[in-house]
Amino acid sequence: MIDIKDILKATKGKLIRGNENIKVKGVSIDSRSIKKDYLFIPIIGERFDGHSFIEGAFKAGAIAALTSREIEINGNSDICLIMVDDTLKALQDMGKYFLKQANIPVVAVTGSTGKTTSKEMIYNVLSQKYNVLKNEGNFNNHIGLPLTLMKIGKEHEILVLEMGMSNRGEIDLLCKIADPQVGVITNIGLCHIENLGSKEEIFNAKMEISNYMDKTQLLILNGDDEYLEKVKYKNTKYKKVFTGLENGNDIFASNIKKLGNEGVEFTIEYDNKTYNIRLNVPGVHNVNNALLAIATGIYYGIPFEKIKEGLGDFKGNKMRLNIINTHEKIKIINDCYNANPDSMKAALYVLEDMESKRKIAVLGDMLELGNYSRRAHEKVGELVSKKNIDLLITVGPEAKNIVKGAIESGFPKENTFVLGDNMTAINLLSYIKESGDVILIKASRSMKMEEIVQYLQERR
Ligand code: ATP
Ligand code: MG
Repeated sequence: MIDIKDILKATKGKLIRGNENIKVKGVSIDSRSIKKDYLFIPIIGERFDGHSFIEGAFKAGAIAALTSREIEINGNSDICLIMVDDTLKALQDMGKYFLKQANIPVVAVTGSTGKTTSKEMIYNVLSQKYNVLKNEGNFNNHIGLPLTLMKIGKEHEILVLEMGMSNRGEIDLLCKIADPQVGVITNIGLCHIENLGSKEEIFNAKMEISNYMDKTQLLILNGDDEYLEKVKYKNTKYKKVFTGLENGNDIFASNIKKLGNEGVEFTIEYDNKTYNIRLNVPGVHNVNNALLAIATGIYYGIPFEKIKEGLGDFKGNKMRLNIINTHEKIKIINDCYNANPDSMKAALYVLEDMESKRKIAVLGDMLELGNYSRRAHEKVGELVSKKNIDLLITVGPEAKNIVKGAIESGFPKENTFVLGDNMTAINLLSYIKESGDVILIKASRSMKMEEIVQYLQERR
């Protein structure tokens, strides 16, 4: 429950209609997901202006709305309308205000790849001791993050927030809203290089998180990453912990055992004791994600046995390296959620480790790579040629360079297919699939390759 009075205080808005003693039960920026007694926040987007949905939101049960335009509302006299200069800024101010009121620490996770996975692992670990609030799914931007803060309740003791970015200044803004006590950076990859120009700039953009840190705050960094590793040698006012597979890190994993689709095991030496840890998700990259969660758990005093339990409970996220067994005895590795060069690499390693008759990679475009796009796709192809893969199918104009890179590195041309869309891929797969196949399906979000997964799952 949120008091209108607090909303007025947080936003410095003016109540132009209704009753300030009202409380709202939740907040939404989408009039379709408004519930009874909710606050509706109209956001002005590129294509739509949320203000045109205010009336609809009230019809759907909202009790209050922000607005930055003069509007007429009829009906129930309790209905509140709050005038603010800028509705988005008001949402962010509200998030900041409610976080400050709650006075609970924030763990912020950023990086190019593995943010959601690491965030979920951290959530699992911290939940062993605390009541944790996290952002759902990918609610990691200037809108999703403050919306999450609006959900803080009296019961919450700590927050885990994914912070996404595609440009300079974005992490800075998110940190202004939710100043983290612990910052976690997973890695520096090529995503958004189109906007930022170089990996160095991507690194600088993620490191904006450290601008808000003093000696009471901690940065947890993947020390295996060539850019993040450099921070080891810097004099910083904040504390730092490095994790990774390399033994120069403060917390490092050894004896990594890949268990195919069952998961992965590794060992950690900590405080003169040895701990064996098992993850129920595949991929060595997940060891890196788990190490970040372990470092966070240690910082917040979670006993190691509990950290292990929390990590063991992590079962993966939707459309991210999910292994599906179909009735035709085909294994699908559904990694359709998104793709960039690093996550493509991680997925090909997982495909390589799967027991199967044949390994098929169905790979679509990786987007937003600007001038790097062609080379990045070719490099994926070079890796395909080294991973014992039987058939390579690409979908989309960029992904055809994956085939080019593969053939140039010796992959047999007759085992490649360059396709234009998902439907053609479905038609092809309907001819060539056989029981015992493992099929990896992966591309950037807008390629919607889950259409292919759906077909393979449903077909009888
Ligand atoms: P987004 O920018 O879309 O929010 P994200 O950073 O949250 O992505 P995840 O959703 O956790 O990343 O992971 C996306 C995919 O990246 C996973 O399915 C997996 O294939 C791969 N991945 C996860 N963690 C790593 C990692 N540490 N290194 C490389 N690849 C990874
Ligand atoms: Mg994410």
